Amino acid sequence: MTARRIDGSAVARRVRDDVARGVAELVAAGGTAPGLATVLVGDDPASEVYVRNKRRLSTEAGMVDHHRHLPGDVGQAEAEALLDDLAADPAVSGILLQLPTPRHLDSDALVARIPAEKDVDGLSTLNAGLLAQGRPGLRPCTPAGVMRLLAEHDVDLAGAEAVVVGRSPLVGKPMAQLLLGQHATVTTAHSRTRDLAAVCRRADVLVVAAGIPNLIGADAVKPGATVVDVGIHRGEDGLHGDVRYDEVAEVAGLLTPVPGGVGPMTIAMLLANTLAAARTQQGHDG
Ligand code: ADP
Repeated sequence: MTARRIDGSAVARRVRDDVARGVAELVAAGGTAPGLATVLVGDDPASEVYVRNKRRLSTEAGMVDHHRHLPGDVGQAEAEALLDDLAADPAVSGILLQLPTPRHLDSDALVARIPAEKDVDGLSTLNAGLLAQGRPGLRPCTPAGVMRLLAEHDVDLAGAEAVVVGRSPLVGKPMAQLLLGQHATVTTAHSRTRDLAAVCRRADVLVVAAGIPNLIGADAVKPGATVVDVGIHRGEDGLHGDVRYDEVAEVAGLLTPVPGGVGPMTIAMLLANTLAAARTQQGHDG
């Protein structure tokens, strides 16, 4: 069997087009264009690339760029004060603190300055709690993007065995909760899991977010399974994921590539969250 390839770039483009239309409708209805404040601390090159792309695609969708760049040696109090300013600014609909922040900063305390209604990364305690309880809220962008890819490809989740590899607060944990919300039977595997391949082989839907290149091979995949690779690793010969694409493609039914799979969806969902946040703040819901 050769897996069908999930084209994340194409789905992401459709989501961004929908968002651009939504922005235009909001403005036409008398609202204000959503504003996105990306906050970058320091000069990590990978983070700079991510933030640049977020800014470019948000302005392409008709949003207003409120980017802030802080020096890498900024103090905790100064960083918190900047986030408080953005929180109070009615032109700012969404605030995204680019992680990881430099080690001397307490990033949990920084995220805590972002009001839940502007928390477009879905990282605040309130949004995480709403997700845990299955109530509406802003969802973390990467797992939300994975859910959208699964929906676009009509992947059946009710009653399906889903395995999530990884339990980070930004990806693995919310991913498991979103799958549970769609009635999958969910197993979360992590660094202490015994016999990872055996656990993964149970999966009808396998989502891999461990941050380890080539972790998942064909021996960990049930024939016909849907495999979603959240990993991104920069090698000398380009980008790779956590999944060995070529060998898994021989076994899986549906498979995301790296690049061109989950990556573009993350930014698309950030834009969707920012539009949703702006609508709520401006009373233009539904
Ligand atoms: P991400 O940002 O993609 O969520 P993190 O580095 O924050 O990545 O988290 C990696 C996750 O992967 C952790 O939850 C960890 O338990 C899990 N993990 C790490 N190594 C393994 C492994 N060998 N097998 C399964 N899961 C692993």
